[in-house]
This record gives sequence, C-alpha cells and structure tokens, in this order.
Amino acid sequence: MKSSIKVFKFGGASVKDANGVKNVANILSKYKNEKIVIVISAMGKTTNALEEVVNAHAKKLGNAIELYEVVKQQHYAIVRDLFPDQHEIFNIVNDTFVEAEWVLDDEPYEDYDYMYDQIVTIGELVSTKIVASYLNFIGISTIWLDSRDVIASDNTYREGRIIWDKTLNSIISKVPKLLEKTDFVLTQGFIASTSENFTVSLGREGSDYSAAIFSYCLDAESMTIWKDVKGVLTADPRIFENVSKLDRLSYKEAIEMTYYGATVIHPKTIKPLQNKGIPLYVKSFIEPEGDGTIITNDVDTNYPPIIIIEKNQALLYISSKDFSFIAEHHLSHLFSLFDKYRIWINMMRNTAISFLVCVPNQPDRLKNLFKALESDFTIAKEEGCELVTIRHYYPELIESLKKDKVVLIDESGSKTFQMVTKNMPIMKRKDDNNS
Ligand code: ASP
Ligand code: MG
Repeated sequence: MKSSIKVFKFGGASVKDANGVKNVANILSKYKNEKIVIVISAMGKTTNALEEVVNAHAKKLGNAIELYEVVKQQHYAIVRDLFPDQHEIFNIVNDTFVEAEWVLDDEPYEDYDYMYDQIVTIGELVSTKIVASYLNFIGISTIWLDSRDVIASDNTYREGRIIWDKTLNSIISKVPKLLEKTDFVLTQGFIASTSENFTVSLGREGSDYSAAIFSYCLDAESMTIWKDVKGVLTADPRIFENVSKLDRLSYKEAIEMTYYGATVIHPKTIKPLQNKGIPLYVKSFIEPEGDGTIITNDVDTNYPPIIIIEKNQALLYISSKDFSFIAEHHLSHLFSLFDKYRIWINMMRNTAISFLVCVPNQPDRLKNLFKALESDFTIAKEEGCELVTIRHYYPELIESLKKDKVVLIDESGSKTFQMVTKNMPIMKRKDDNNS
C-alpha cells in the first residue's frame, strides 16, 4: 500500500553555492507538513574534484592535499555565506573532511576503487550536513540520516550492488520512525555501506538511484528529481537547439532513453519505481511551479523524435588471429571478459572473423581487456567516436545528423536508429592556396 511519503532528489547543480542551498530551502518550505525524504548529492562539481584528489594520491603526483584543500575551501566559503561565525556546522564540516585526510596521509591503498570510495563520498556527507543544518537553522526541522545505516551493498567498490532484503528491512524499520518525529529526513545519494561497514559508492550519478531505493522501500506516493532543466527534453540542450519538453513518458520509454545514454535520469532509477507503480516527476529547481515531466505506467503515445548522444566512445575491431569464425564459444568468452572488466557494450556487430563493439573509451579498463585478449585476437581501436541514438526517427533527421560525419556502423530498428560516427577529417587541398 502506498504511504504518504514523498521522496525528493536534489543534484549537485541545485546546491552548487549558498544561493542554491537557499533556493532548495525555499522549495522545501512550500512542502511544510508533508513527510519527505530528501536525497542530496555532492555540491556542484565536488565529485569531479574529489576524483582528481584520488587520482593525484594514487599516482603520487604530490598535489593531492593541495587539491583537497581547494575542495574544503569551496565548502567553507558556502558555510560562511549561510551561517553565523560561531555556528556548530564549522566543526561538523571539519570533522567530516578529516576522514579523508587520514587516507591521504597514508600510502595509496592497493585497491584503487576502495580508496576512491573512502575519499569521493565525503562530498555527499558534507553537502547533506550543510543543507540539513541550514534547514534547521532557518526553522525547518530536519533530521540528518546517514544513508550507510540503511542502504546495504556488496563490496563492489565504485559500483555497489544493493542487498535488497537487508536494505528494505533497515529502511522500513528506521525511516518512518524518524518521520514521526519530524517532517523532513535528509540523506545522501550515491552512498551505501558494505556488511563490514565500509563506505561504497553506487556509480557516478547514482543519487537518483538512491532516491529510487528509498521510494521503493517506503512505497512512496511519488518521487521527484529536481533538475536545472524544465523536465525530460527531446535532446541535450547543450548540444541541440529547439529541444522541447516531454510532458509525459511511460516507464518503458524512460528506460529505453536511459539505456541509450540519456543522462537526465540514472539508468537504474526507473525499475524500482515501475515495480511499485510510483510516479516519477522531473521538475526544475529554477522554475519549481512548472509541470515538469511525469513518468508513469502510461500507454505510449506518439512521441516526437528523441536524440541521445554519447560522446567519448571507442569502436573496437576484434578479430581472431587464426582466422577462425567468431562463433558462440568466442562470443561467450568475449562477453565474460567485458563483464569482468566492467566495460559496457553500447552497440555491437559480428561478421565472419571479427566482432565490432562500441564501448565507452575508458583506457584503464580497456587496457585490461586487451591484455586478456592479445594472445588469440587482433584488436584495433578507433577513438573519438560518438554514439548517436534516435528514438522515433524519420529519415531526414538521420540525414541531417550525418552531416560532416563519417558513419562507422549503423543499425535501424522499428523505433530506434543508432550510428557510431566520427567527425569528418578536414583535408585541405594544397593547390587551393592562391599564392
Ligand atoms: N555526486 C555523485 C556524482 O557526481 C552522485 C550524483 O550526483 O548523483 O556522480
Ligand atoms: Mg548529478
């Protein structure tokens, strides 16, 4: 049975500075007397900055502490804008930052992903402490919850897999009790805990997924993702002009879009909501009165074309060295290696003696794959590719998107067209120089 609890998720862009925090508080003030679980990400680009810290520490570049100091100062600046001098938040923030300093004072750990999770998740811990304190400071009573006390994961660092039964039990035994004491419970996105109480992150942009986990376990009335766009759009407005907002979407269409790389919602978000029929709203924190997009069990209507671009892709040409056909036993071996090294296949094709795959260009992961394959296969890698997906396409639109591009492979289904492209190399004729 549905509860009357709502789940809100605010991403990094909504709390990137003191005004952002005030704006979030202002939105929340309109929901007084409702029971809300608020899930918040790290402030602004903090996660990227902390990734740099981890990288500097791991590679012993000598500037990890310095980079970390920059992150700290950005947070202190926000805290100074929001609170009076003697407020307890200064010590709270300090204590939180110190936890990663212990890691940075040590030699880099051998397990990079484990070390990453111990440092990068500080971003969510500080941001939620700041926002919760601010809400209380202005009189909106809010309880801060450590999501690691309720969201249980295995120990796949950087991509924790949820242990659902344990998580469900913890959330239902703890969160409604907190909501009896006060209306708002505020917690971190992106973070969970292993059974040995180590912090584990759920993968980049994982805060949406955290909010969906809370929604599912609490049988929430609805979930809302507050974004810097009006709702789900037909294409990325940073790349295309004339994009429009989709007022309604089915869970199925939303799943398809995220599968093909639409970043507006984290891919893992929809399934838990769809399983319980919980509506998902995507709304603007800049224009909170707007309708946004509602994603439900809708019957699919006529959608306009939706374009999804995934940049920084690599196309791999894998062929057998002994000219044997790429047959089932090869494929199953190849797939198991892709899975092992966590390389996600975005598009693929097999021909007689070769196998073509489009994957995100993550050199560290690909290096492992190549090593494992080199004895039996020849591999060529084409970098700098884009994967273009068009849902509900029409031919003229495809043609217009091919302009100035070389199409390396393409594929069309009844609703979806995909192509891997590269920018056309610009060759200038020497004899054009009229000198
Ligand atoms: N802060 C994390 C990230 O930037 C999680 C999130 O924002 O959803 O990936
Ligand atoms: Mg985000």
